[in-house]
Parts: sequence; structure tokens; C-alpha cells
Amino acid sequence: MLRQELEISTFQDLLYHYPYRYFDRTQLTKIAAIDSTTEYVQIAGILVNITEEGAGFKKRLIATLYDDTGRIELLWFQGAQWMKKTLKENERYIVFGKVSLFNGYFNISHPEIELWNADTAIAGRQPVYSSTTKLIAKGITNRSFAKITQALFEKIQPGDAPEVLPAEIVRQYNLCNRYSAIRWIHFPDSDEHEQLARHRMKWEELFISQLMIARLRLQHTAQQGWRFEKVGDHFNDFFRLHLPFELTGAQKRVLKEIRQDTAMGKQMNRLLQGDVGSGKTIVAVMSMLLALDNGFQACIMAPTEILAQQHYFSISELLGDMGIKVRLLTGNVKGKARKEILAELADGTVSIAVGTHALIEDTVQFKNLGLAVIDEQHRFGVGQRARLWKKNEMPPHVLVMTATPIPRTLAMTLYGDLDVSVIDELPPGRKEIKTVHRKDAGRMKVMEFVRSQVDEGRQAYIVYPLIEESEKMDYESLMAGYEQVKIWFNENKYRIAMVHGRQEAGERQRNMERFVKGEANVLVATTVIEVGVNVPNASVMLIESAERFGLSQMHQLRGRVGRGADQSYCILLTGNKISEESYKRIQIMVSTTDGFKIAEEDLAMRGPGDMYGTKQSGVLKFKLADIVLDGAILEETRIAAQQLLSQDPSLSQPGNQPLRFMLKQQGRQSHWGKIS
Ligand code: ADP
Ligand code: MG
Repeated sequence: MLRQELEISTFQDLLYHYPYRYFDRTQLTKIAAIDSTTEYVQIAGILVNITEEGAGFKKRLIATLYDDTGRIELLWFQGAQWMKKTLKENERYIVFGKVSLFNGYFNISHPEIELWNADTAIAGRQPVYSSTTKLIAKGITNRSFAKITQALFEKIQPGDAPEVLPAEIVRQYNLCNRYSAIRWIHFPDSDEHEQLARHRMKWEELFISQLMIARLRLQHTAQQGWRFEKVGDHFNDFFRLHLPFELTGAQKRVLKEIRQDTAMGKQMNRLLQGDVGSGKTIVAVMSMLLALDNGFQACIMAPTEILAQQHYFSISELLGDMGIKVRLLTGNVKGKARKEILAELADGTVSIAVGTHALIEDTVQFKNLGLAVIDEQHRFGVGQRARLWKKNEMPPHVLVMTATPIPRTLAMTLYGDLDVSVIDELPPGRKEIKTVHRKDAGRMKVMEFVRSQVDEGRQAYIVYPLIEESEKMDYESLMAGYEQVKIWFNENKYRIAMVHGRQEAGERQRNMERFVKGEANVLVATTVIEVGVNVPNASVMLIESAERFGLSQMHQLRGRVGRGADQSYCILLTGNKISEESYKRIQIMVSTTDGFKIAEEDLAMRGPGDMYGTKQSGVLKFKLADIVLDGAILEETRIAAQQLLSQDPSLSQPGNQPLRFMLKQQGRQSHWGKIS
């Protein structure tokens, strides 16, 4: 049970199942002080009116908690039966949870709840552990965890949580010893000790990750690579005859860097950062031509089907009649067509392969892959990048392109193993996108404005949120919105297309193409259009329920307009009343179009947890460390990791053995293919 739910199967696992907060009886909120801005509260009061409502799946438990200032409802939808058995009326409880407003009343669903006098054996702050509803339903509560952990600490010795950091590092950076640290995290006997303990374990986490990255980088720099000796006909012809515009200074500089990298006989591992619309595609194309000029194949990989298709079309168009064979390979290419492409990749007939993840599957063999470009990197994990390396006897050069500017701390962690190029200049003639915030009450005016733009021949995007947790409702509002848009835009006069994730791929593609080709005036969509889509004639991005979007998502969406010569607009439409946090996000969007600034704000507001698909990447799975708040520790550990490796690159000295063992374990867990 514990194993399934929390991946806890040994006492060691239990040691590292840290509490995420503490019940501190001195930190209470009065119920009357709760208002619409309250998020989480800890309150104490008497529990009354424990009642069950509904039946079957709809069964839930409701209870009321009151203190001397007011009352609030507590709700359980899962484990109701068990909760009913354990809770006692007219007893004093301490409760912690997230407040929500329902029908004008505040309530807390699935609060953490404990009898006020539950256990005096655990003095001071009591640890609160994350659990799951399944476990709670089985009676394994936070209390049980605390008791088990406490019992465990009575049994174990310092040797059960041995030091892993080299003694010199512990000394140099003033870290407390590991055993005490773990103990104090579970049961802090003072603020000071808790802080020491957390600092120490964060330090260790970040150090291990920085050490992994530093080793990977060492491997890269030692890695032999294909030598692109010359700039040949493909590149030169394209430059002279097919390039549709003058390259910006930044594009030229980056191409030069790539040219140098690939000529050295070492494998290139380069990250190309450039805000949306900065013109990364052309850099990718010209780098691929360089590979072709030296007798190699090249591929470009995108995170979604639509993006891969768009790349395929725009690359084919750019290369025109140059006689270069470009092919598209995605999960949707099946049967005979797939077989054909696979054969052509293997015998070298295809020079440039454009595709999705499908390209890294083991069945895909290249004759001689020399360069792999990965677009919108944040959707790919480090492990996937590593799989590309195996596509040729020597790994191909790798160019990773990301549209989302990455704050420094995050870059150090996610891409610490790569060299970085930046396109910091937009193509000339771009007008700043005008961004405004409008509320539902002003919807009519907004729609009139959008229509006036369409009447001038422009195209418009109307984007609806789609959040996994409320997917069904979101689709309903998308459909309702679509019907509304059809009414607003007289169907005889305007053409409306719609794309969303539930459409069959072919249909989605047809609708998308209608918009890309200018046959549809308005595109109603969910965030499937987020990345990469390029329709220069589109001048309006209307984001519905903008309060529900994250900053970098809005920035990506806004980047879909402002690609042509016309003045473009981004309208953030929200409900009439929105939370302070949403308001802050929207104000940031209105006040700047600088992607770096937005990324920093985003990271600060949201934490790295769910940014950039970092969860899948495995690199950022820290238990305690937060790369925004702990930026200073991160810098320190980076230097320490580099220092250690410069003294002992293979970690073979006796004092470094525990560390080496730990790296091995972690490497396996996070699927960092190449790390041993
Ligand atoms: P992104 O970096 O977001 O992938 P794209 O490569 O899609 O950006 O380029 C955005 C738009 O800018 C495209 O329409 C492209 O043709 C155009 N573009 C790129 N480079 C230049 C340039 N040097 N001069 C003018 N337009 C350019
Ligand atoms: Mg792009």
C-alpha cells in the first residue's frame, strides 16, 4: 500500500519522506478573519454536525467547525466513511487546508485534521506528511506517519543515514551532519536547527544535480564528433538564391557559432535561445544545409504533430526547387508510407527528416545522421535528447531550440550541460504588440474590434483555456464559445475554423490549414496552437478566461501575432472579478513583451515545479530545494561540483565513493541515459 501510493518500501524511504509542513499550535487564524483572499489556513475549533449526504459515488461527509468568531464547513468526498468513524463531535480539533468559496460560504475540503490534544508525546511542532486519499481511507493518516517516523528515530543510529558528501566540502560550506539534518527535518527542536537541517539537505540535492550536469558536460567536451569541413553548394545556393530576407545580426552570429562548433571534430551540444518570433527556424534550416553539404543527413524534431507539419511545409517551401528531399515522420504516418520513409532514411535518399518523437524510436535508422535539431526543447526530457546520440556511430551534433527564455537558475539546472547561443534581436520592422486587459462586461466592444480587424483583411485567434482537471467543462465552454463566435461573425460573410485536442488528427490539420492558408478568418482554439504556429497575417490574439492562463503560456500565445508588418493586438479577456494573483499576471503581460522578464516573473510566481515540462525531465525533482528561492545555494553547489570534478574527474578517490554510488542510483532513477 505505502509502496504503491508513495513509493515507500524501506525504512530509508521513510526517512526521506519529509514533512512538507508542521502543525504549529501557536500559528492559528480566527475563522472570522477568512476572506476571499485567504488561500491556506490553520484554524482550531470545536467540531459539530457531522453528517453524511448523498449516496453511492456522490456520498460525502460534511461537518462544521466553530471557534469564538465564526464557523466554517469541512467536506470530504473520499474516504467519507472512514472519516465519519474517526471524527468525534464536540471535540476540539486543529485543521489545515485550502479555503474555497461555494454558494457564498467558505469551506475546506479534505482538510488535514487532528484532535487538539492528539499527542503530547510529540512536543513542539508536529510534522505533517503528504499522504493520499487512498491511504487516509485505509486509516493511514498523518498521525500514523508521525508515529512511525518517531519510532524509527528511536531505533536508528547515525550510521543509518551516513554522510555522502566529502568531509572537506562539509567543512568548507559549513554544513551540518547528515543524520542530524534528517532528524531535525522531521522533528525540529528549534527554528535554528530546522533551518540548518533544511539548508544542508537542499545543498546536498542541488549539489548532486550539479555534479551530474558537470559530469555530463565533461563527457560532452570529450566526445568526438563529425567534422563539417566545408560550407558547400546547398548552403551557398540557399544563401544567394532562396533566402527570403536579410538575416539579422543575431542570426548571423549564431550561425557562425554553429559553424565553428561543427568544424572542430567535437560533438556540438548547443542551446539556441530566442524569444518567440525571433527567427530560429531559418537558423535551423541553414545549419541542416551545412550538414548536407558535408555528406550527412539532418533531422528536426518538434513536440507536436501540428508543429512538425508546419515545419515540414515551411522548410519544403523555403528550399523550393533545390532538389533536397525532405520528409515528414510522425506517429500518424503509418503502413506503407511509413515503411517507405524508413527505407529512405536508412538508405540516405531522404536528406532532411522532419518529425515528432517518432524520430527517436529505435525502428528509425539513418544512413548517416550528422545533425539533430530539437525545437521547443522544454517538452523533451534530457533522456530523450540522449537517445538521439545513438542514431549514428558517433553521436550527431545537437542543436536545441527553445522559444521560452529561461531564467538563469533554471538554465543552469536544465541545460547546464549545453553551450548557449542567444538570438536577442527581432527581425526588423516588427511593431510592438498592443496588449490590453478587458473584462467580460466589455465583451461586446471587444468583439466589434475583432470584427473590424477581420474586415480589414486580418485574421484573428480566439483561444480558450483547457486545463486537465476540468477538461470536460472546458470543452463545453469551448463549444459554447464557438457557437457564440459564429453568431458574432455572420457565417455567410466570415469563415470560422476550430481546432482542439479531441478532434481527429486529420480534421484538426485541415482546420489548421484553412487558417494558415487564409481561408478562415477566425480560428477558435484551445492551447494546441500554443507553440510555433506561424500565420503572419493574423493580427489579433484574443485570450478567453485569461485569468486561468499561466504567464509563459500567455506569452507564447501572444507570440502568434505580430509576425507581419501590421499593428497587432493581444486582448486578455477575463471575468469581471479575478483573484489578485491573476490580476498581477495580467498586469505583467500588459506592461511588457520582454520574454525574459516574463519568464523571471513566472518562475518567481509559480515556482519551477510545473514550468517547461520540467516534471518529466527528472532533473528538477527536488524534495526540498526550490531553484528560485535557493538560487544562492545553487550557485555555490555549481562551483563546488566543478571544483570536485577538477580534482577527481572520475570520482575514484576513496572519500568520494559514497557520492559516486549516489550518483549512480539517481542516474538510474531519472533516466539520464548516458550517465554512468
Ligand atoms: P521562432 O523563433 O519563433 O521559431 P520563426 O522562425 O517562426 O520564429 O520566425 C518568425 C517569423 O519571422 C517568420 O515569419 C519568419 O519568416 C520571419 N523571419 C525570420 N527571420 C527574419 C529576418 N531576418 N527578417 C525578416 N523576417 C524574418
Ligand atoms: Mg519556432
